[in-house]
Amino acid sequence: QAPLLRVEGLTVVLSSGATRGVVLDSVSFSVGAGRTTGLIGESGSGKTMSAMAIVRLLPEGAETSGRVIWGTQDLLEAPARRMREVRGHEIGVIFQDPLSALNPLQTVGKQIGETLRRGGMPRAQVRARVLELLDRVGIPDPEQRIGVYPHEMSGGMRQRVMIATALAGSPRLIIADEPTTALDVTTQARILRLLADLRDSDGVAMLLVSHDLRVMAHVADDVVVMYAGRVAERGRADAVLARPRHPYTRALANNVPAVTTKSAIAEPLRGAPANPFDRPPGCAFHPRCPLAQAVCRTTTPELREVEPGRFSACHFAEEVGS
Ligand code: SF4
Repeated sequence: QAPLLRVEGLTVVLSSGATRGVVLDSVSFSVGAGRTTGLIGESGSGKTMSAMAIVRLLPEGAETSGRVIWGTQDLLEAPARRMREVRGHEIGVIFQDPLSALNPLQTVGKQIGETLRRGGMPRAQVRARVLELLDRVGIPDPEQRIGVYPHEMSGGMRQRVMIATALAGSPRLIIADEPTTALDVTTQARILRLLADLRDSDGVAMLLVSHDLRVMAHVADDVVVMYAGRVAERGRADAVLARPRHPYTRALANNVPAVTTKSAIAEPLRGAPANPFDRPPGCAFHPRCPLAQAVCRTTTPELREVEPGRFSACHFAEEVGS
């Protein structure tokens, strides 16, 4: 089956004064229909940038190249009007902080209904559909909640409103950027269950951005591990997290007791993430890597298939996994 979304060689350059930084460098991965793909990495790894580049929500002045294939279209080439249609009806976007993403002056019902109204749905039907969506995302007493404002709700309920807003256009893909980071552990678990349920019962594919490997271990089918704007490793989530083929993934997994790797070496992740405006030569991970050798300081490792369906950008991928 052809993937729902294909990202090919996605590259983003940002400028800061006279310096230019390659914040995404030839990023390639795909999202299968009805599957959850996780983008993992520390802050600054490029995971949010990748997600936002797909729906063309990047900061002003960002130079983007590569291809983002959605159906038969390259979204990077699509006119702005088409992109608004894609974001409203085909790809839903959920942000980390619903309070800043939602309009504080509009009731939640009005906000969820906006996409429906813009799509030409008659007023009476909009209300019925909004009530249905509130119920679908697990908001109790939808008749009461349809008229409240975002600040009158808890963080978890607001995130459910964001999800309902994203679902209003009946998207085939939802991009969720750290959707549970601002929530307490119990609410996190509920929201993750809701997202998994939307995938299983409604067949909505997810591109889930998270720095939290526990979240990924629970909900992702496939993962893309990013470091310094590049893909370090990708493959099926269970295989990648249990048996990393890149020292960066191994270090991330070893920092999370709940995610057990089969690796005998339990080294902590030392040092700070690479700065894309001052990227180390060769493998960008080499200053932090316990396996680094001379070649790592001079030659950038290509992302290569190290076992069927499993890709790693490490010169010594075979040794990491053994
Ligand atoms: Fe470490 Fe070298 Fe592999 Fe980079 S290429 S992750 S520095 S062993």
